[in-house]
Amino acid sequence: MQDVPTQLKKYQIYIDGQWCDAASGKTFETFDPYTGEPWALIPECDATDVDRACNAAYRAFESGPWPRMTQTERGRLLRRIAGLIEKHGEHLARIEVKDNGKLISEMSAQLKYLPEWYYYYGGLADKITGMVIPVDKPDHFTYTLREPVGVCGLIIPWNSPLLLVGFKLAPALAAGCTVVIKPSEYTSASLLEFMKLVIEEADVPPGVINVVTGYGATTGEALVTHPKVAKVAFTGGSATGSRVASLAAASFKKVSLELGGKSPNIVFDDCVMEDAVNGAISGIFAATGQTCVAGSRLLVQESIHDEFVERLIATAKTAKLGNPMNFDTQVGPVTTPPQYQKVLSYIDIAKNEGAKCVLGGGPAGPEMGGGKYFVQPTIFVDVDNKMRIAQEEVFGPVLSVIKFKDEEDAIRIANDVIYGLAAGVWTQSVKRATIVPRRIRAGTVWVNTYRAMSFTMPFGGFKSSGLGRENGQTAIDEYLETKSVWVSTAANTGNPFIMKTATQS
Ligand code: NDP
Repeated sequence: MQDVPTQLKKYQIYIDGQWCDAASGKTFETFDPYTGEPWALIPECDATDVDRACNAAYRAFESGPWPRMTQTERGRLLRRIAGLIEKHGEHLARIEVKDNGKLISEMSAQLKYLPEWYYYYGGLADKITGMVIPVDKPDHFTYTLREPVGVCGLIIPWNSPLLLVGFKLAPALAAGCTVVIKPSEYTSASLLEFMKLVIEEADVPPGVINVVTGYGATTGEALVTHPKVAKVAFTGGSATGSRVASLAAASFKKVSLELGGKSPNIVFDDCVMEDAVNGAISGIFAATGQTCVAGSRLLVQESIHDEFVERLIATAKTAKLGNPMNFDTQVGPVTTPPQYQKVLSYIDIAKNEGAKCVLGGGPAGPEMGGGKYFVQPTIFVDVDNKMRIAQEEVFGPVLSVIKFKDEEDAIRIANDVIYGLAAGVWTQSVKRATIVPRRIRAGTVWVNTYRAMSFTMPFGGFKSSGLGRENGQTAIDEYLETKSVWVSTAANTGNPFIMKTATQS
């Protein structure tokens, strides 16, 4: 990682425990979304590099120190990784802010929390067990083994690279898999620094964790289709997720997908209004709305609608836009130029559909504290749930407020989208707080809070929001195969063409 004459930092990829350039020698620039300026060069990998990385991961899975390590040793290694993240967290947070524009206040907190994923799965590594299962045949000892699936391709988006790597890498290593990671072309730097400062220093055997950088359509697809890859774990948009799943299906790879959302944040008239206003604001404007769980549809009961919207606007207006590296900034830039254009185009779509813009509604230039890729915190009211602004994922600081009459109406509207990732419910009624979450078709429902997350709690989507679960004990299953072992304790005598106990195909 040496400086090149242009002053751009030059990164390399990590394959088989070695740092190297892409075989083609090609690179591309990565940008600081706050200034719009390039700051580093990233290798542009193609199928040749992906092939090298997948072969290295396969070799490490089949032979060498990794498959010989006990589960307890793997657990210890994961805990070493956790300790090194603690050591280098502040630096990694700053690199991520430079690359994706997320607020330093959020990233610092995130990097302080991230080690928990590696501690948790480190603890789980030697609690992966099979079962002794009684069978209906005499003289047999039968049991199951839980074995790693093999080489996993981990594909990561730009909104929270290191956290989303952690969701996948920690359980994959605990299970005994090896991995090839492809970060987003927009945000590769923090992962490459993580490899240097954490993975190298932790002494992870060569080939166990490899990183290839490049574009989705080339590097990403080469990884998804590589014959040595047994499983793909993907986070990103639903359209890309669908393509990844169909490519993986051609060779029967296992797939887990964490995709988009259009999450309803439902405010009942018996809520604590101040809490609900704060929950609605952080649900959509935190991380500049660039989070899969953004509470982008705010469903407000009609009896409190006008007062609630008034309070919402009053609070949203105070948002401090600015340099994401400053701890007092509350709303930062949109991460990528295409995403910036997409957010602005959805604002136009909403206006043309007849939604009423009551706050923001356009770019936020330097005169507003913003800069190149900033969008004003935007609120639309009079939104009908059939409008595109209510149905499609914007992934930006744009809130659609939708009125509802009663509980039944709220549940109907909440479920009337293709997505099912998350939802919020604001109420003081114990009955509602119990019944409404059960009737919402989503992987996570928060009551009187929003965006809470833990390494112990399963996370994933219903419907078009994904397949499988990350986090918690269930996530480890995504990286394991079950093997049944039959041991006969009797002599196999009689007709050799028909085994006494064989009853199936
Ligand atoms: P994508 O879903 O396209 O990107 C996610 C990851 O997949 C990136 O690493 C990307 O690489 C890679 N990728 C892209 N195409 C392929 C492919 N054909 N095969 C394999 N990998 C591929 O997200 P975008 O950045 O294009 O964002 C589009 C929309 O997705 C956003 O507007 C938002 O709505 C949603 N999104 C959802 C996220 C979530 O957390 N659920 C996260 C990010 C986006 P590369 O970046 O290099 O193209």
